[in-house]
Amino acid sequence: MADRSLRGIRLGAQSLQSEEGVVFMERRATTYTCPTCNHDTTLMFAADAEPPATWECRSCGAEAVLQVDGEPVKRDDEQEKAARTHWDMLLERRTRAELEELLEERLAYIRARRGAGDDPTRERIGA
Ligand SMILES: [Zn+2]
Repeated sequence: MADRSLRGIRLGAQSLQSEEGVVFMERRATTYTCPTCNHDTTLMFAADAEPPATWECRSCGAEAVLQVDGEPVKRDDEQEKAARTHWDMLLERRTRAELEELLEERLAYIRARRGAGDDPTRERIGA
C-alpha cells in the first residue's frame, strides 16, 4: 500500500524541481566611491538589505563611502546613535525640570526618614 504512491516515478530520470514559481530576489546596485583614488566600487545587494556605510575600495583598499543618489552618505547620525549614553536616553524621556523635581522629592523623602532616626542605609548594614 505504502509504496504504491511511489510507483511511476523513475528516480534520477528527471528533476522534480521546476523553475515555475521561482521568484528571483530583487537586487539593487550600490556604489561606493573611494576618497583616496576616486574609484567607484559597485556591488549588488538584495533590495531589502541595508548596505554598509563603507566598503573596501577594490582599486586601492582604502575605505570607500556609500553613495546614495550620487551623494556620499553621512555617517554622523550613526555615530551619534552609538555614542548615546543612559543620560541622553533619560533626557529623551524627561525634561531637566522634571528630573530636578524628582531629585528634590527623593531628597526630601530621605531627609525626612533620617530626621526620624529611620535611615534606610543604616538599616541595611544592621547598625
Ligand atoms: Zn581607492
